[in-house]
Order: sequence, then structure tokens, then C-alpha cells
Amino acid sequence: MGNPLQDRRTAVELASVKQVVEIANKVSVFDGLARIVEADLAALDPEIIPSGWRDSAVLGELRFGFADAEKRIPMVTGSATADIGAVCQRCLEPFQLKLEIEPKLLLLETEQSADGFKDFEVWELDEQTVRPRDIVEEMLIMAMPLSAMHDNVADCKEFTATEPSDNAEELVKPFAALRAQMIRNDKDPAE
Ligand SMILES: [Zn+2]
Repeated sequence: MGNPLQDRRTAVELASVKQVVEIANKVSVFDGLARIVEADLAALDPEIIPSGWRDSAVLGELRFGFADAEKRIPMVTGSATADIGAVCQRCLEPFQLKLEIEPKLLLLETEQSADGFKDFEVWELDEQTVRPRDIVEEMLIMAMPLSAMHDNVADCKEFTATEPSDNAEELVKPFAALRAQMIRNDKDPAE
């Protein structure tokens, strides 16, 4: 039967058989997404680029069906998550960014319109056929933040404390130096 994620089929056909597409793949399967991740990680020193980022998991499920009783409007719903390598824009360290999507799409041909489906977004079919993979990939790409960051400031590099004593010292030093300088300036305004 081939590969339901990769095979091109018409939206009507997918909807008619109520196709369920399991997603349990590596990021590398989604080559457009992988190219974006690769370009992002290229900003890092090569030695700190996480080596296994292409093998991170994309997991989820797409479910096809019809949105209307007359079976004229194919739809796809479902959910998926992806762990992708990213560079934190606050501390410039690599981290695992979790993308979550919940597609709720009407699969419409360009001349087709559908009113009364407010909860749905429209996926315009460029051709008769659609590849489930492309839907997942495009939605994941759209879910990528413009500026990726650790969720929690405490996870950023300067604030992690694997060796608390050393890091604490590093944190304190610049402020201590600045304070020392300020005190000097106070004592001797003319320098
Ligand atoms: Zn960070």
C-alpha cells in the first residue's frame, strides 16, 4: 500500500477512506524543515552543533475525512510534535525546541469556497493530489518562532549551574569589577 505519509493521493480519496496517517519519523524526512534547522544551527561553532539533530522525532497523526455531510469538502485534522535543534537568541546556545501543531484544515481546490467552517483554516490544493508529508512540514515550519529562545531564562547558559561554585563566580565577577570601579570613581571624581 506504499507509505501513507509520502504518497500523493487526491484529497477526496484520502477523505473517502478516512485515511489515518501515523507520523513517527525523523526530522530528516522533512527536508524543507531540515534545511531551515540546518541554516539556523550553522550560526553555531561547529563543535557545539548537536550532532543528532536530524534524528530528532516528529510524532503525531493526521486524520482525513469530509467536513460536510455532502462529502464535497475534504478536511484533515490531527496533531503532531517535533523536537528540532535551535539556537537560543538570548544565550546563543543550541537547545531542543518543541514545535506543536494541531492541523484543522479544509483541503480546497482553488475555485472551491467553503463558508460556515470558521474553526478551519484553508489548505489550497495546487494540484489534484496532496502529500500528507507536505501538510505536516509546512505547518511545522509555520509554527517555528521568529526568535527561538529557551522557555525559561534559568535554562540559558549563563544561568545554568552544573558546577555552581564556578558559575557563581563567573556571574559575580563582572558586577564586582564594575562596583569596584564605581567606588573608585566616587572616591576620586577627578580620576
Ligand atoms: Zn538560552
